[in-house]
Amino acid sequence: MKKENTSQEIRTRIAPSPTGPYHIGGARSALYNYLFAKKYNGKFVLRIEDTDKQRSELRYTQDAIDSLKWLGIIWDEGPDIGGEYGPYKQSQKLNVYENYIKKLLDEGKAYHCFCSAEDLEAKRQDQMTRGLAPIYDGKCSRLSKEEIENNLAEKKSFVIRFKVANKKVKFHDLIRGDVEFDTGLLGDIVIAKDMQSPLYHFVVIIDDYEMKISHVIRGEEHLSNTARQILIQEALVMTRPIYAHLPLMLNPDRSKMSKRKSDVAVLDYKKAGYLPEALINFMVLLGWNPGTEKEIFTLSELEKEFSLEKVQKAGAVFNIQKLDNINGYYIRDKSIEKLTELCLPYLIEAGFNVKEITRLKLEKIISAYKERLKKLSEIVELTDFFFKDKLTYGKELLQWQKMTDTEIKDALLLCDKIFDELDSEAGEWNIKKMEEALFPEILKFNLQKSYPENNKGFIMWPLRVALSGKKASASPFEIAEILGKQKTLKRIKDAINLL
Ligand code: GLU
Repeated sequence: MKKENTSQEIRTRIAPSPTGPYHIGGARSALYNYLFAKKYNGKFVLRIEDTDKQRSELRYTQDAIDSLKWLGIIWDEGPDIGGEYGPYKQSQKLNVYENYIKKLLDEGKAYHCFCSAEDLEAKRQDQMTRGLAPIYDGKCSRLSKEEIENNLAEKKSFVIRFKVANKKVKFHDLIRGDVEFDTGLLGDIVIAKDMQSPLYHFVVIIDDYEMKISHVIRGEEHLSNTARQILIQEALVMTRPIYAHLPLMLNPDRSKMSKRKSDVAVLDYKKAGYLPEALINFMVLLGWNPGTEKEIFTLSELEKEFSLEKVQKAGAVFNIQKLDNINGYYIRDKSIEKLTELCLPYLIEAGFNVKEITRLKLEKIISAYKERLKKLSEIVELTDFFFKDKLTYGKELLQWQKMTDTEIKDALLLCDKIFDELDSEAGEWNIKKMEEALFPEILKFNLQKSYPENNKGFIMWPLRVALSGKKASASPFEIAEILGKQKTLKRIKDAINLL
């Protein structure tokens, strides 16, 4: 396979269509384009492919911009910042495309097609019943000049079709190697719905050419489009960029990832509490590997280490557990101040009164859960009990093994007594003091009740539930320390009252 070509100025681009929320697949392409340009001191371009007037919406352009900015994938030229080769929104350069359509028409390489949708459908059905491939039969390519002019004068609606030569299109793809397509089965393709409504295959060629794009790096789903696009390129005598088609992203069952089946909008990942650096790290490994055991990469490391030569052909399985693990790694890597800052919006959105507690306490809460957090959003469910006045749980949750209600009550009364004796004013309200005071008592308690001596669960379980209302939590002492003496004793009493 040929090497990455680095002799010319490297210019890459992404061309999102603003017809829906910005997609994780698009973001991976953006990342690879960005990294490739950075590595070779090139330029990375964002252009908005909003030729589909019905389906394009401004809010989705904004969504793409917000998603990319959040990820830190920043463009050198684009609709918001301009650049030498603008405009960077296709809807703003319809006249440019129109001129190219005219050129193709003048040169007889494209033609007006006046066939109605019903005609085309009838032809299609007929071809199918005769076992033929349903392709356009080229009827309007045979219209005389007069017929065309008459139709136009009558304002008959038309599309522009490009004459597809029956040949083999060959190109070299940096990832897939030599690729060959037979264009015989394509039929003449529609490149514009009218003179001011060009379609994707056509505009993409013109933009890549006019924006001097050196490398087109995009998803494998576009591989077959490349053949069509090359034909149009050749007809317009435009230079061909170097192509690289990235492997498909697959669900764990190896089906193709799609909007319907998977959670794919970038900003949904943000909402769920993934960190941008984790998503970047995860996405880059969807198809690329460094050839070493190393798995953790920052964006700036990737700007040096990434190469298209190490991109695989085979589909890349999107493993959400792996993303969670990487995210957990980046969460643990944060300072507690920073992590608190990141968790705060989730707590506020959940309606917790975070203003009532001190920053220090909040940091302690986050710190108690830092190790087990995989996503920022999980902080809500893990820590809700700190922010509640009263916990609600069934009394059966207080039971450890086969303890009776009376035994549970005794266990909690013991906790109440020991904790009450700690002098919080004198600085005794801390984990160490709690352990020192309670642990010897647990031994005695177990002996008295004929429980296995070293099983702390007979005290610690009911205590944990009394303080958190949960089966799993940070250590009860850690919770007690954060809650403070008064709240802790109140919760123990509430639990006793349940029995
Ligand atoms: N608008 C196309 C897409 O979002 C761009 C394809 C291309 O990169 O050529 O898939």
